[in-house]
Amino acid sequence: MRREREEWSEIPRKGASDVRFVDSHVHISDYAEQDGTLRLAQACRFVLFAASVDEKTSRATLQAAGAPGSVVRAFVGQHPSEAAKHAPLDWFEPALRQATGAGELGLDPRYPGAGSEGAQMTAFIRQMETVEEARKPVQVHSRGAERDCLEALATFNTRGVLMHWFEGEDEVPRVADKGYYASFGPALLYSKRLQRMALRLDPDLVLAESDGPVPFAALGGAGGPALVPSVVLKLAELWGLPFSDARDRIARNSLRFLG
Ligand SMILES: [Zn+2]
Repeated sequence: MRREREEWSEIPRKGASDVRFVDSHVHISDYAEQDGTLRLAQACRFVLFAASVDEKTSRATLQAAGAPGSVVRAFVGQHPSEAAKHAPLDWFEPALRQATGAGELGLDPRYPGAGSEGAQMTAFIRQMETVEEARKPVQVHSRGAERDCLEALATFNTRGVLMHWFEGEDEVPRVADKGYYASFGPALLYSKRLQRMALRLDPDLVLAESDGPVPFAALGGAGGPALVPSVVLKLAELWGLPFSDARDRIARNSLRFLG
């Protein structure tokens, strides 16, 4: 067991052959029973790119990533749902220094403070300035604001951008042109629109995610990292690849996104 744990701590440096699956976007800090989720992930040779939504969840995510042999890679940041609360962001830069990357940041018209001059854009830009300076990868939340997010991102020289749970079908050419990554979650199993998008994107820029613990009603309420192999299987079917080829390709893409 100890030997296995040591190997896990080496994973990002050793390459995709040691990783079976990467859940590229999961809120591990939201799991009441975090230990069981992490143990399952470790047993199945998963790596979890864990996103945060505010200072508190960012600190919890950093703590989960800091445990010996952890399969968690911490992404810290303020979600657009939090921007209108005008909480200070002075914690973000020191947290990002300790983290693998930033996330989830972005824009979402369902929450207050949207619009080009709103609190969401202010928080997004402020965090992106820090991300650019730190040269770290970023997970972007763009639901319903895909074009605005991409326009804001174009003003930054970023190292790795992941458009998480990307739904902007009209913006697929722009994402492809910029070389950004896009991740698909369990909704890919039943959404024809997402399946069309997955077919139009470069398979070398596609990642898989769960956005756990979000439950999927269309999948009987299931959710979490355990659904990632089903997402990979769907991508393999769409791309006409053997499952193991798609799995290895997506794991490689995920590690490349980290830089
Ligand atoms: Zn999320």
